[in-house]
Amino acid sequence: SKTVTILNLPFINTTNQQFLLALTQRIQQKQNTFIVTANPEIAVYAYDHPQFRQLIAAADYITPDGIGIIKASQIIKQPLKERITGFDTLVSLLELANQHQLKIYLLGAQKAVLQKTVVNIQKKYPHLEIVGAHDGYFTDEKAISAEIKAAQPDIVAVALGYPKQEQFIARNRQLAPAVWIGVGGSFDVLSG
Ligand code: UDP
Repeated sequence: SKTVTILNLPFINTTNQQFLLALTQRIQQKQNTFIVTANPEIAVYAYDHPQFRQLIAAADYITPDGIGIIKASQIIKQPLKERITGFDTLVSLLELANQHQLKIYLLGAQKAVLQKTVVNIQKKYPHLEIVGAHDGYFTDEKAISAEIKAAQPDIVAVALGYPKQEQFIARNRQLAPAVWIGVGGSFDVLSG
């Protein structure tokens, strides 16, 4: 599909609905998928840090998460169709997981926030299976990697903030043929 390049990053030019359809197919086919939902802060950080830019350029999808990216696309006369945020995409994936009884692994946020997030997700989406959850303040990444590898989730939601979440995904995404998505502060919202 088509992309629009802003600050040297190829943003997908699609709607939330079309994007979710593509993700649904990729999950059904067990295709390994790395999603970066890039707001202007991430895009500028990537512009200033070539190593990080290369790391996220290896993602399957870079979505425009923020009105600033949409505005920039209009200025260069290649308007992006829609804003696609990490939070909205996570909620859509949770709905999808609930419909298809998918397995999800949650990584990130403070322990109390994560615990509330797990409870709220399980209440609202009773048919999805949370196969593991770990807070975002850890020293032993190997233990988490092993847990994800053993659990073989369909979706891995990583809420460590950028650049940590994208770096974690780049290092670990081969452990499971899942949709791996960095979701920033989404657990802080879902815990409320
Ligand atoms: N976080 C984490 N581990 C860290 C640093 C941050 O789990 O080492 C969590 C933090 O608790 C919060 C989220 O990552 O839930 C960061 O949210 P923010 O809105 O700052 O994300 P950003 O916009 O920076 O991607």
